[in-house]
Amino acid sequence: MSIVVMKFGGTSVADAEKIRQAAKRAIRAQKGGNQVVMVVSAMGKTTDQLEDLAREVMKGKPAPKREWDQLLSTGEQVTISLMAMAIEAMGASAISFTAGQIGMVTDDRHTKARIKSIAADKIHRELDAGKIVIIAGFQGVTESGAITTLGRGGSNVTLVAIAAAIKADMCENYTDVDGIFTTDPRKVPTAKKIDKISYDEMLELASLGANVLHNRAVEFAKKYNVPIHVRSSLNTKKGTLIVAETESMEQILVSGAALKDKLARVSLVNVPDTPGVAARVFHTMATHDIVVDDIIQTVDKCKKTASISFTIELSELSDTKAVCDKLAKTLKCGVVYDKGLAKVSVVGVGMRVHTGVAERMFSAMAKAKVNIQNITTSEIKISCLIAESQGVKALRLVHDAFELGGKPKAKKKTAKKAAKKKTAKKTKK
Ligand code: ASP
Ligand code: MG
Repeated sequence: MSIVVMKFGGTSVADAEKIRQAAKRAIRAQKGGNQVVMVVSAMGKTTDQLEDLAREVMKGKPAPKREWDQLLSTGEQVTISLMAMAIEAMGASAISFTAGQIGMVTDDRHTKARIKSIAADKIHRELDAGKIVIIAGFQGVTESGAITTLGRGGSNVTLVAIAAAIKADMCENYTDVDGIFTTDPRKVPTAKKIDKISYDEMLELASLGANVLHNRAVEFAKKYNVPIHVRSSLNTKKGTLIVAETESMEQILVSGAALKDKLARVSLVNVPDTPGVAARVFHTMATHDIVVDDIIQTVDKCKKTASISFTIELSELSDTKAVCDKLAKTLKCGVVYDKGLAKVSVVGVGMRVHTGVAERMFSAMAKAKVNIQNITTSEIKISCLIAESQGVKALRLVHDAFELGGKPKAKKKTAKKAAKKKTAKKTKK
Protein backbone atom coordinates (compact mmCIF):
# COMPACT_ATOMS: atom_id res chain seq x y z
CA MET A 1 0.00 0.00 0.00
CA SER A 2 1.38 3.41 -0.93
CA ILE A 3 1.57 6.30 1.51
CA VAL A 4 0.53 9.71 0.21
CA VAL A 5 1.08 12.96 2.09
CA MET A 6 -1.11 15.80 0.84
CA LYS A 7 -0.64 19.38 1.91
CA PHE A 8 -3.36 22.00 1.53
CA GLY A 9 -2.27 25.64 1.69
CA GLY A 10 -4.30 28.50 3.15
CA THR A 11 -6.24 29.27 -0.05
CA SER A 12 -7.17 25.60 -0.46
CA VAL A 13 -8.82 25.49 2.99
CA ALA A 14 -10.08 29.08 3.06
CA ASP A 15 -13.72 28.24 3.93
CA ALA A 16 -15.96 25.34 4.96
CA GLU A 17 -16.68 24.35 1.36
CA LYS A 18 -13.00 24.26 0.46
CA ILE A 19 -12.26 22.18 3.54
CA ARG A 20 -14.95 19.72 2.38
CA GLN A 21 -13.40 19.61 -1.09
CA ALA A 22 -9.98 18.82 0.39
CA ALA A 23 -11.56 16.17 2.62
CA LYS A 24 -13.18 14.56 -0.44
CA ARG A 25 -9.87 14.43 -2.22
CA ALA A 26 -8.22 12.71 0.72
CA ILE A 27 -11.02 10.16 0.96
CA ARG A 28 -10.80 9.50 -2.77
CA ALA A 29 -7.05 8.86 -2.43
CA GLN A 30 -7.70 6.49 0.47
CA LYS A 31 -10.38 4.62 -1.48
CA GLY A 32 -7.86 4.37 -4.32
CA GLY A 33 -5.80 2.11 -2.04
CA ASN A 34 -3.47 4.57 -0.32
CA GLN A 35 -2.70 5.44 3.25
CA VAL A 36 -3.31 9.17 3.49
CA VAL A 37 -1.74 11.87 5.64
CA MET A 38 -2.85 15.49 5.30
CA VAL A 39 -0.82 18.52 6.32
CA VAL A 40 -2.86 21.70 6.47
CA SER A 41 -2.24 25.43 6.75
CA ALA A 42 -4.31 28.03 8.53
CA MET A 43 -7.51 29.03 6.73
CA GLY A 44 -7.06 31.81 4.15
CA LYS A 45 -5.37 34.86 5.58
CA THR A 46 -5.70 33.78 9.21
CA THR A 47 -1.98 33.93 9.96
CA ASP A 48 -1.74 37.48 8.59
CA GLN A 49 -4.70 38.51 10.74
CA LEU A 50 -3.11 37.01 13.83
CA GLU A 51 0.09 38.93 13.10
CA ASP A 52 -1.92 42.15 12.72
CA LEU A 53 -3.61 41.55 16.05
CA ALA A 54 -0.31 40.96 17.79
CA ARG A 55 1.10 44.18 16.33
CA GLU A 56 -1.94 46.09 17.53
CA VAL A 57 -1.51 44.81 21.05
CA MET A 58 2.22 45.46 21.06
CA LYS A 59 1.85 49.10 19.92
CA GLY A 60 5.11 49.11 17.99
CA LYS A 61 7.13 47.18 20.60
CA PRO A 62 8.74 43.91 19.46
CA ALA A 63 6.57 40.93 20.46
CA PRO A 64 8.04 38.20 22.69
CA LYS A 65 8.88 35.48 20.18
CA ARG A 66 7.60 32.61 22.29
CA GLU A 67 4.18 34.22 22.50
CA TRP A 68 4.25 35.14 18.83
CA ASP A 69 4.63 31.45 17.95
CA GLN A 70 2.04 30.43 20.53
CA LEU A 71 -0.42 32.76 18.80
CA LEU A 72 0.41 32.08 15.15
CA SER A 73 0.27 28.31 15.57
CA THR A 74 -3.41 28.49 16.52
CA GLY A 75 -4.52 29.01 12.91
CA GLU A 76 -3.49 25.50 11.89
CA GLN A 77 -5.16 23.94 14.91
CA VAL A 78 -8.51 25.27 13.69
CA THR A 79 -8.02 23.69 10.28
CA ILE A 80 -6.94 20.24 11.48
CA SER A 81 -9.98 19.75 13.65
CA LEU A 82 -12.40 21.05 11.01
CA MET A 83 -10.79 18.79 8.43
CA ALA A 84 -11.15 15.75 10.69
CA MET A 85 -14.82 16.63 11.25
CA ALA A 86 -15.44 17.04 7.52
CA ILE A 87 -13.93 13.62 6.83
CA GLU A 88 -15.93 11.95 9.59
CA ALA A 89 -19.10 13.64 8.26
CA MET A 90 -18.44 11.98 4.91
CA GLY A 91 -18.27 8.58 6.54
CA ALA A 92 -14.51 8.02 6.59
CA SER A 93 -12.36 7.88 9.68
CA ALA A 94 -9.86 10.61 10.63
CA ILE A 95 -7.73 11.89 13.49
CA SER A 96 -6.03 15.27 13.83
CA PHE A 97 -2.72 16.05 15.55
CA THR A 98 -0.85 19.16 16.58
CA ALA A 99 2.94 19.07 16.23
CA GLY A 100 3.26 18.38 19.95
CA GLN A 101 0.99 15.37 19.69
CA ILE A 102 3.12 13.66 17.05
CA GLY A 103 6.46 14.59 18.57
CA MET A 104 7.52 16.99 15.84
CA VAL A 105 10.46 18.30 17.84
CA THR A 106 12.33 21.43 16.76
CA ASP A 107 15.13 23.55 18.15
CA ASP A 108 14.07 26.58 20.17
CA ARG A 109 14.66 29.27 17.55
CA HIS A 110 11.20 30.79 17.74
CA THR A 111 9.69 32.05 14.44
CA LYS A 112 12.25 30.10 12.40
CA ALA A 113 12.65 26.79 14.16
CA ARG A 114 14.25 23.78 12.52
CA ILE A 115 12.84 20.27 12.79
CA LYS A 116 14.99 17.79 14.71
CA SER A 117 12.82 14.66 14.82
CA ILE A 118 9.35 13.28 14.25
CA ALA A 119 7.71 10.32 16.01
CA ALA A 120 6.78 8.43 12.87
CA ASP A 121 5.39 5.31 14.62
CA LYS A 122 2.42 7.18 16.01
CA ILE A 123 1.44 8.25 12.49
CA HIS A 124 1.95 4.71 11.14
CA ARG A 125 -0.20 3.26 13.89
CA GLU A 126 -3.15 5.48 13.01
CA LEU A 127 -2.71 4.83 9.29
CA ASP A 128 -2.66 1.09 9.89
CA ALA A 129 -5.92 1.50 11.82
CA GLY A 130 -7.47 2.90 8.63
CA LYS A 131 -7.51 6.54 9.63
CA ILE A 132 -6.72 9.59 7.55
CA VAL A 133 -4.13 11.41 9.66
CA ILE A 134 -4.31 15.21 9.68
CA ILE A 135 -1.30 17.16 10.91
CA ALA A 136 -0.98 20.87 11.66
CA GLY A 137 1.58 22.45 9.36
CA PHE A 138 3.99 25.26 10.23
CA GLN A 139 4.36 24.38 13.93
CA GLY A 140 6.72 22.38 16.08
CA VAL A 141 7.45 21.84 19.73
CA THR A 142 10.71 22.20 21.65
CA GLU A 143 12.07 19.49 23.91
CA SER A 144 10.78 21.47 26.87
CA GLY A 145 7.30 21.75 25.35
CA ALA A 146 7.16 25.30 23.94
CA ILE A 147 5.35 25.74 20.64
CA THR A 148 7.53 26.97 17.79
CA THR A 149 6.84 27.93 14.17
CA LEU A 150 8.97 27.16 11.13
CA GLY A 151 8.75 30.55 9.39
CA ARG A 152 5.96 31.92 7.19
CA GLY A 153 4.96 29.47 4.48
CA GLY A 154 6.36 26.74 6.71
CA SER A 155 3.60 24.16 6.13
CA ASN A 156 5.55 23.12 3.07
CA VAL A 157 8.46 22.26 5.32
CA THR A 158 6.12 20.18 7.50
CA LEU A 159 4.87 18.38 4.39
CA VAL A 160 8.31 17.31 3.24
CA ALA A 161 9.55 16.50 6.74
CA ILE A 162 6.55 14.23 7.40
CA ALA A 163 6.90 12.59 4.00
CA ALA A 164 10.58 11.88 4.67
CA ALA A 165 9.92 10.63 8.21
CA ILE A 166 7.21 8.15 7.26
CA LYS A 167 8.89 7.24 3.96
CA ALA A 168 5.93 8.32 1.87
CA ASP A 169 5.73 7.32 -1.77
CA MET A 170 4.23 10.60 -2.85
CA CYS A 171 4.18 14.12 -1.57
CA GLU A 172 1.48 16.38 -2.99
CA ASN A 173 1.32 20.12 -2.49
CA TYR A 174 -2.17 21.45 -3.22
CA THR A 175 -2.35 25.14 -3.89
CA ASP A 176 -4.33 27.71 -5.91
CA VAL A 177 -2.13 27.54 -9.02
CA ASP A 178 -1.70 24.70 -11.52
CA GLY A 179 1.99 24.21 -10.72
CA ILE A 180 5.32 25.95 -11.16
CA PHE A 181 5.43 28.24 -14.18
CA THR A 182 8.31 29.31 -16.43
CA THR A 183 7.80 32.70 -14.82
CA ASP A 184 5.12 34.63 -12.93
CA PRO A 185 2.00 34.45 -15.19
CA ARG A 186 0.71 37.71 -13.71
CA LYS A 187 3.72 39.48 -15.17
CA VAL A 188 4.16 37.44 -18.34
CA PRO A 189 0.89 36.07 -19.74
CA THR A 190 2.67 33.57 -22.01
CA ALA A 191 4.22 31.78 -19.02
CA LYS A 192 3.79 28.01 -19.25
CA LYS A 193 3.45 25.32 -16.63
CA ILE A 194 6.63 23.30 -16.16
CA ASP A 195 6.10 19.51 -16.05
CA LYS A 196 9.30 18.61 -14.23
CA ILE A 197 11.99 20.66 -12.55
CA SER A 198 15.06 19.73 -10.49
CA TYR A 199 15.50 20.60 -6.83
CA ASP A 200 18.44 22.87 -7.64
CA GLU A 201 16.56 24.81 -10.29
CA MET A 202 13.64 25.24 -7.93
CA LEU A 203 15.95 26.49 -5.18
CA GLU A 204 17.52 29.03 -7.51
CA LEU A 205 14.17 30.23 -8.84
CA ALA A 206 12.79 30.64 -5.34
CA SER A 207 15.76 32.69 -4.14
CA LEU A 208 15.62 34.78 -7.32
CA GLY A 209 12.07 35.92 -6.75
CA ALA A 210 9.71 33.07 -7.69
CA ASN A 211 7.39 32.84 -4.73
CA VAL A 212 6.04 29.29 -4.72
CA LEU A 213 7.65 26.98 -2.21
CA HIS A 214 9.57 27.63 0.97
CA ASN A 215 13.28 27.12 0.18
CA ARG A 216 13.77 24.98 3.24
CA ALA A 217 11.06 22.62 2.01
CA VAL A 218 12.93 22.11 -1.26
CA GLU A 219 16.26 21.69 0.53
CA PHE A 220 14.68 19.06 2.75
CA ALA A 221 13.12 17.31 -0.24
CA LYS A 222 16.48 17.24 -1.98
CA LYS A 223 18.27 15.89 1.08
CA TYR A 224 15.80 13.03 1.52
CA ASN A 225 15.05 12.64 -2.18
CA VAL A 226 11.30 13.17 -1.73
CA PRO A 227 9.57 14.15 -4.99
CA ILE A 228 7.06 16.99 -4.58
CA HIS A 229 4.04 17.32 -6.85
CA VAL A 230 2.84 20.94 -6.85
CA ARG A 231 -0.74 21.02 -8.16
CA SER A 232 -4.06 22.80 -7.99
CA SER A 233 -6.77 21.99 -5.46
CA LEU A 234 -9.34 23.30 -7.95
CA ASN A 235 -8.89 20.63 -10.63
CA THR A 236 -7.39 17.19 -11.18
CA LYS A 237 -4.77 18.25 -13.74
CA LYS A 238 -1.19 17.12 -13.29
CA GLY A 239 0.98 19.90 -11.85
CA THR A 240 4.76 20.21 -11.63
CA LEU A 241 7.03 17.49 -10.27
CA ILE A 242 10.05 18.69 -8.33
CA VAL A 243 12.52 15.84 -8.46
CA ALA A 244 16.18 14.89 -8.49
CA GLU A 245 17.97 15.97 -11.61
CA THR A 246 17.89 13.63 -14.60
CA GLU A 247 20.10 13.69 -17.67
CA SER A 248 17.25 14.69 -19.96
CA MET A 249 16.80 17.92 -17.99
CA GLU A 250 20.11 19.13 -19.38
CA GLN A 251 18.63 19.09 -22.86
CA ILE A 252 16.52 22.09 -21.93
CA LEU A 253 18.58 25.25 -22.09
CA VAL A 254 16.65 27.27 -19.55
CA SER A 255 13.77 26.14 -17.33
CA GLY A 256 12.52 29.40 -15.92
CA ALA A 257 12.99 33.13 -15.54
CA ALA A 258 12.43 35.27 -12.47
CA LEU A 259 12.27 38.88 -11.43
CA LYS A 260 13.15 40.21 -8.03
CA ASP A 261 12.38 43.87 -7.49
CA LYS A 262 12.76 46.38 -4.66
CA LEU A 263 16.54 46.00 -4.56
CA ALA A 264 19.26 48.48 -3.67
CA ARG A 265 23.00 48.46 -4.22
CA VAL A 266 25.80 49.58 -1.96
CA SER A 267 29.17 50.37 -3.57
CA LEU A 268 32.26 51.02 -1.51
CA VAL A 269 34.67 52.82 -3.83
CA ASN A 270 38.40 53.49 -3.59
CA VAL A 271 38.79 50.85 -0.93
CA PRO A 272 42.46 49.98 -0.18
CA ASP A 273 43.41 46.89 -2.22
CA THR A 274 44.95 44.97 0.67
CA PRO A 275 44.25 41.57 2.25
CA GLY A 276 41.55 41.52 4.88
CA VAL A 277 39.42 44.41 3.62
CA ALA A 278 36.62 42.31 2.13
CA ALA A 279 36.59 40.16 5.24
CA ARG A 280 36.22 43.26 7.36
CA VAL A 281 33.40 44.68 5.23
CA PHE A 282 31.33 41.51 5.32
CA HIS A 283 32.11 40.77 8.93
CA THR A 284 30.55 44.15 9.71
CA MET A 285 27.47 43.30 7.59
CA ALA A 286 27.10 39.93 9.28
CA THR A 287 27.34 41.32 12.79
CA HIS A 288 24.54 43.76 11.92
CA ASP A 289 22.39 40.97 10.45
CA ILE A 290 22.36 42.56 7.00
CA VAL A 291 21.60 39.99 4.31
CA VAL A 292 23.79 40.71 1.30
CA ASP A 293 23.43 39.27 -2.17
CA ASP A 294 25.53 39.35 -5.35
CA ILE A 295 28.89 40.65 -4.18
CA ILE A 296 31.11 42.08 -6.90
CA GLN A 297 34.68 43.34 -6.45
CA THR A 298 36.75 45.00 -9.12
CA VAL A 299 40.36 46.09 -8.71
CA ASP A 300 42.06 49.12 -10.22
CA LYS A 301 45.66 47.96 -10.54
CA CYS A 302 47.00 51.45 -11.30
CA LYS A 303 45.41 53.15 -8.32
CA LYS A 304 45.88 50.06 -6.11
CA THR A 305 42.28 50.38 -4.98
CA ALA A 306 39.24 48.18 -5.22
CA SER A 307 35.54 48.76 -5.41
CA ILE A 308 33.23 46.39 -3.62
CA SER A 309 29.52 46.39 -4.31
CA PHE A 310 26.65 44.24 -3.15
CA THR A 311 22.89 44.24 -3.40
CA ILE A 312 20.40 44.24 -0.55
CA GLU A 313 16.64 44.39 -0.24
CA LEU A 314 15.40 47.97 -0.39
CA SER A 315 13.74 47.55 3.01
CA GLU A 316 17.20 47.08 4.55
CA LEU A 317 18.67 50.22 3.01
CA SER A 318 18.28 52.60 5.93
CA ASP A 319 19.85 50.15 8.42
CA THR A 320 22.61 49.39 5.93
CA LYS A 321 23.30 53.09 5.35
CA ALA A 322 23.91 53.69 9.02
CA VAL A 323 26.42 50.84 9.11
CA CYS A 324 28.16 51.58 5.80
CA ASP A 325 28.57 55.32 6.35
CA LYS A 326 30.56 54.50 9.49
CA LEU A 327 32.50 51.75 7.77
CA ALA A 328 33.45 54.05 4.88
CA LYS A 329 34.86 56.55 7.35
CA THR A 330 37.07 53.97 9.06
CA LEU A 331 38.22 52.52 5.72
CA LYS A 332 38.73 56.05 4.33
CA CYS A 333 36.79 55.17 1.19
CA GLY A 334 33.71 56.46 -0.60
CA VAL A 335 30.26 54.90 -0.52
CA VAL A 336 27.44 55.16 -3.06
CA TYR A 337 23.87 53.92 -2.65
CA ASP A 338 21.55 53.13 -5.58
CA LYS A 339 17.83 52.47 -5.29
CA GLY A 340 15.18 51.46 -7.81
CA LEU A 341 16.90 48.28 -8.96
CA ALA A 342 15.62 44.86 -9.96
CA LYS A 343 17.23 41.59 -10.90
CA VAL A 344 16.13 39.50 -13.83
CA SER A 345 17.47 35.94 -13.98
CA VAL A 346 17.29 32.77 -16.01
CA VAL A 347 17.79 29.35 -14.47
CA GLY A 348 18.48 25.96 -16.00
CA VAL A 349 20.73 22.94 -15.46
CA GLY A 350 21.15 22.90 -19.25
CA MET A 351 23.59 25.79 -18.91
CA ARG A 352 26.18 23.35 -17.66
CA VAL A 353 26.42 21.68 -21.04
CA HIS A 354 25.29 24.37 -23.49
CA THR A 355 27.08 27.57 -24.36
CA GLY A 356 25.62 30.79 -25.70
CA VAL A 357 23.06 31.23 -22.94
CA ALA A 358 24.57 34.46 -21.65
CA GLU A 359 24.83 35.87 -25.15
CA ARG A 360 21.19 35.17 -25.84
CA MET A 361 20.11 36.84 -22.63
CA PHE A 362 22.26 39.95 -23.09
CA SER A 363 21.22 40.33 -26.75
CA ALA A 364 17.56 40.31 -25.79
CA MET A 365 18.18 43.16 -23.36
CA ALA A 366 20.37 45.07 -25.79
CA LYS A 367 17.67 45.00 -28.47
CA ALA A 368 15.23 46.65 -26.09
CA LYS A 369 17.85 49.09 -24.79
CA VAL A 370 17.76 47.77 -21.25
CA ASN A 371 21.02 48.73 -19.57
CA ILE A 372 22.66 45.95 -17.55
CA GLN A 373 24.27 47.30 -14.40
CA ASN A 374 25.71 44.11 -12.89
CA ILE A 375 26.03 40.56 -14.10
CA THR A 376 26.31 37.61 -11.76
CA THR A 377 26.31 33.92 -12.58
CA SER A 378 26.34 30.51 -10.97
CA GLU A 379 26.61 27.13 -12.63
CA ILE A 380 22.90 27.11 -13.39
CA LYS A 381 21.81 30.77 -13.44
CA ILE A 382 22.56 34.14 -14.99
CA SER A 383 21.31 37.33 -13.35
CA CYS A 384 21.34 40.94 -14.52
CA LEU A 385 20.77 43.92 -12.30
CA ILE A 386 18.72 46.55 -14.12
CA ALA A 387 16.48 49.56 -13.47
CA GLU A 388 13.34 48.49 -11.64
CA SER A 389 11.20 50.50 -14.07
CA GLN A 390 12.31 48.14 -16.85
CA GLY A 391 11.93 44.97 -14.78
CA VAL A 392 8.75 43.50 -16.23
CA LYS A 393 9.73 44.43 -19.78
CA ALA A 394 13.10 42.72 -19.31
CA LEU A 395 11.45 39.64 -17.85
CA ARG A 396 9.16 39.35 -20.88
CA LEU A 397 12.06 39.80 -23.29
CA VAL A 398 14.15 37.15 -21.63
CA HIS A 399 11.18 34.78 -21.36
CA ASP A 400 10.61 35.20 -25.12
CA ALA A 401 14.30 34.95 -25.99
CA PHE A 402 14.42 31.45 -24.53
CA GLU A 403 11.02 30.54 -25.97
CA LEU A 404 9.80 29.65 -22.50
CA GLY A 405 6.21 30.32 -23.50
CA GLY A 406 6.61 27.95 -26.46
CA LYS A 407 7.93 28.60 -29.93
CA PRO A 408 6.51 31.77 -31.51
CA LYS A 409 3.83 30.98 -34.09
CA ALA A 410 5.65 31.88 -37.29
CA LYS A 411 4.69 31.62 -40.97
CA LYS A 412 6.46 28.84 -42.83
CA LYS A 413 9.11 31.11 -44.27
CA THR A 414 10.01 32.81 -41.03
CA ALA A 415 9.97 29.51 -39.21
CA LYS A 416 12.61 28.25 -41.60
CA LYS A 417 14.64 31.37 -41.08
CA ALA A 418 14.42 30.94 -37.34
CA ALA A 419 15.58 27.34 -37.64
CA LYS A 420 18.52 28.45 -39.76
CA LYS A 421 19.45 31.10 -37.27
CA LYS A 422 19.32 28.55 -34.50
CA THR A 423 21.70 26.13 -36.17
CA ALA A 424 24.02 29.02 -36.98
CA LYS A 425 24.08 29.91 -33.30
CA LYS A 426 24.73 26.35 -32.29
CA THR A 427 27.78 26.03 -34.51
CA LYS A 428 29.08 29.36 -33.27
CA LYS A 429 29.27 28.09 -29.70
N1 ASP B 1 -0.09 29.57 7.95
C1 ASP B 1 1.32 29.81 7.78
C2 ASP B 1 1.54 31.03 6.88
O1 ASP B 1 0.58 31.58 6.37
C3 ASP B 1 2.03 28.62 7.24
C4 ASP B 1 1.67 28.26 5.83
O2 ASP B 1 0.66 28.66 5.28
O3 ASP B 1 2.45 27.51 5.21
O4 ASP B 1 2.65 31.40 6.69
MG1 MG C 1 -0.84 30.61 4.98
